Order: sequence, then C-alpha cells, then structure tokens
Amino acid sequence: MSEPARSNLSPAERDEIIQQWLDVYRDFGITELFLPVQTTDTPAALLYQEEELEHLRVADLGICTRCKLHKGRKTIVFGEGNPAAELMLIGEAPGSDEDIQGRPFVGRAGQLLMQMIRAIQFERRDVYIANVLKCRPPENRPPEPDEIKTCSPFLWKQIAIIKPKVILALGTFAAQMLIGSKSSISFLRGRVYEMPFGRVIATYHPSFLLRSPQKKPEAWEDLKLVKKTLAE
Ligand code: URA
Repeated sequence: MSEPARSNLSPAERDEIIQQWLDVYRDFGITELFLPVQTTDTPAALLYQEEELEHLRVADLGICTRCKLHKGRKTIVFGEGNPAAELMLIGEAPGSDEDIQGRPFVGRAGQLLMQMIRAIQFERRDVYIANVLKCRPPENRPPEPDEIKTCSPFLWKQIAIIKPKVILALGTFAAQMLIGSKSSISFLRGRVYEMPFGRVIATYHPSFLLRSPQKKPEAWEDLKLVKKTLAE
C-alpha cells in the first residue's frame, strides 16, 4: 500500500491510490462503501437528503399504526418541500384537506401561509413544510400527549436530515414542542431561540390568524425576524 494521499497529487496518481484502497477493501470482502456527505449545498448532498427523507417515509414510518390516529386518517401527511431548505415550517397536524390530499397546508390556512412566506420572498418549493403529527386528529381536535410522543421522533429525524437554518413554529403545539416550553404562543413568539438543532422562531398558527386577523401585524414582525435571522 502506498503512502497516504497528498493534496498535490495529480488526478492519475489519486486514481491509482483509490484503486489500491478499493483492492484492499475487495480483499476483505467489502463490496459497498457509504461515503458521508459533509455539505448541504452540492447536488450530491441534495440527492442524499432526498433519499434519506424517502427512506424515513417509506422504510421507517411506513403505513404507521403506532397510535390511535391511524384508525380515522385517510392519508399520512409526511411533509414536503426542499430537502435542503434553509427555512422549515412546522404546524400542528393535518386538517381535512391535508388528510385527503396527503400534503401539508393545502387548505385555507395553507393559502394564508403561502401569502405569509411570499411576503418574505419564499415560494412553497423553497421551504420544507411538516407538522408535529402526521395524521389528522378527529374533528381537528388538539394533539394528545401520547400522539405527540409517538409521532415526534419522525419530525426530529426530518429536522436532522434537512438541517434548516431557521424553523418557523406555527402555533402553540409546534412552538411548545420545539422550544421545550409550556408557555403560550403569545409569550413565545417574537424571539429567536437557539436550540441544539437550529434556530426556532414561533408565530401564530395561520388558522388562528384567519379567525383573528388583528394579530397579523405581530405575525408580520415574526416573519421579518425570520428573514433577518436567515441573513445573519
Ligand atoms: N394545520 C396544520 O397545522 N397543518 C396543516 O398541515 C394544515 C393545517
């Protein structure tokens, strides 16, 4: 075996060294190599993140029956968007439109959410959208603790794969879970939380804003904070 690779090797020398290493692996019976992807801004890294998410969706989550919500759901709403998104939006749980279509935030709240992110120059395809729960609770009731406990590991894995720079938590449940607090959304919003998995900003849920439009100026402040934090 030749000496470790030097940085000033010619392409031919580098290929020869790689060939020698591959011969050694083959002698050991190793036929597959998995190379870590270090960055999130190359086409290879993007493909890797896409595949990781697909593996999580199909192989890990599967046709989930882990909690009682599976009995009433039509579709699992895994989440969708740019697998390398800088901005991730996290809501509470699918509603009836989402349950039918299998996509997050496609109903009235979703239309408002899209207007909100366009106001800070993002399109739907730029961001990644997911929920705390992947199945619709009956009559859109709030998520229950056992459902959050069962479902949230899949959201944590999505966050770990996507590695967003900023997460915008939409409404009480997403904010409380991501920030690890029991405080109200009106208390939690308006600040940047430095969490081990990235920065979290909380704002009102778009469904709440549809019912309480007088709160939109505060949500706009939160969106401007998202934009500013992304630019840092
Ligand atoms: N409300 C949510 O919290 N998530 C959706 O996907 C739709 C509505």
